[in-house]
Amino acid sequence: MTRITSCFTGIFFAAFLAACGAGETPSETAATTTPASENDIDLIVNGSHIVTMDEVGTIIENGAIAIDDGVILAVGSADEVTAKYSAAVTLDGERRIVMPGIVNGHSHAAMTLLRGVADDLALMDWLQNYIFPAEVEFVDAEFVRIGTELACWEMIRGGTTTFVDMYYYPDTIAQVVEDCGMRALISATVIDQRSPDAENADDGIRKGSGFIERWQNRNSRITPIFGPHANYTLNAGQLAATRDAAMKYGVPISIHLSESPFEVQNSQNTYGMTSIEHFESIGFFEGPTIAAHVVWPTQEEIPILAERRVGVIHNPTSNMKIASGIAPITEMLEAGVLVGLGTDGAASNNDLDMWEEMRLAAFLQKVDRMDPTAIPATTVLRMATSGGAAAIGLGDTIGSLEVGKRADLIQVAFEDVHHVPTYDVVSHLVYVSDEQDVASVIIEGKVVMLERKITSIDTERVAEEATALAARIQAALKERNEAN
Ligand SMILES: [Zn+2]
Repeated sequence: MTRITSCFTGIFFAAFLAACGAGETPSETAATTTPASENDIDLIVNGSHIVTMDEVGTIIENGAIAIDDGVILAVGSADEVTAKYSAAVTLDGERRIVMPGIVNGHSHAAMTLLRGVADDLALMDWLQNYIFPAEVEFVDAEFVRIGTELACWEMIRGGTTTFVDMYYYPDTIAQVVEDCGMRALISATVIDQRSPDAENADDGIRKGSGFIERWQNRNSRITPIFGPHANYTLNAGQLAATRDAAMKYGVPISIHLSESPFEVQNSQNTYGMTSIEHFESIGFFEGPTIAAHVVWPTQEEIPILAERRVGVIHNPTSNMKIASGIAPITEMLEAGVLVGLGTDGAASNNDLDMWEEMRLAAFLQKVDRMDPTAIPATTVLRMATSGGAAAIGLGDTIGSLEVGKRADLIQVAFEDVHHVPTYDVVSHLVYVSDEQDVASVIIEGKVVMLERKITSIDTERVAEEATALAARIQAALKERNEAN
């Protein structure tokens, strides 16, 4: 069943595919899309419900969104919007819920290629004995390209439109993001050990600075940032030096913070204080910070996170799988901390499914507090959209469907058996829907998935490349295990 109506001709996609370098379609046809009047626009997306996630949680029945030049021009009833605008492409809204694209606030995208390579281990054992050695051995620019493409494919398929990544070869990540049409904050990793792309922390800062100079203000969808790994993999001077470099370029930092009891104890042993107290003492929070995990903040530290506007990214699946603990999300939200959601890398999750993160975020708080009213569905949906956008510093740009914001939105199909009946759309989005229900994905006004067909990534090629690379990794691991 096709859901494109109106005057769709394929021209729009030809222009898009040519622009992102992903297609073979010739670009000369694009000229015929030149608008005849200001009400001739790129795209109208209809929905049986538009879940705007604006300040007051407006939901519009039989609504539509008008989009031109990557920006939302109008949000209203389908009748009003279609009466006013004429679009080159219109997406039908029958049994389609329209909502903002999902924000994945913490990922290591290319780790999709290490999915399942080592499971059921504690964080430090997993990192030091499996992940770090495997990365030094296998991760190069080619690994990062293929792994990130695989991740972008998986994220688009699941309705994620923005992610905050921390991995190696950030130029390669940025190139993949530029080509596949997603939005991302991409961290240049800084860690005080030999990594796949740097010798030590100083080298990481130097190379990261080059990356930021190359990518800053180059593409409106891409924000290059610094990613100092954690309080236990960098010393105080290196953390401060990374923050200084970030301040110099005016970019945020993403970091793992207060993730495990090990980290808290290690910080106590080294500095006589916790990670958050330590960061506060060295002025680390004076620039914008996106902090992943934050499982173990004390009652005294939560107000610091709120006051410093630290964006906390909750990763319930990873925290559960590695048994890092249960983050006090309810207390942080009550204290006014900005909280978003993330998947973490696919080696500790083991997928990039944000619908699962939403459900687990809700359930984990409810069972931890033995209180079913803890973080209700609307709060969780906000953490995955407008709240997540605010936590990563893009609250004015994306995260809700409002006039003037960038057009990052998805259509979720409500036609599976698990959507029958539907009494409450938000309840269903959080407690029922999953990534297979995402039908279409629009980022910056471009349709990157249409009725489950991804248009911006050559998925067949990526699947072949990922399978071939994984076979090489598996053979090398087997050889290494046999030698030991
Ligand atoms: Zn992480």
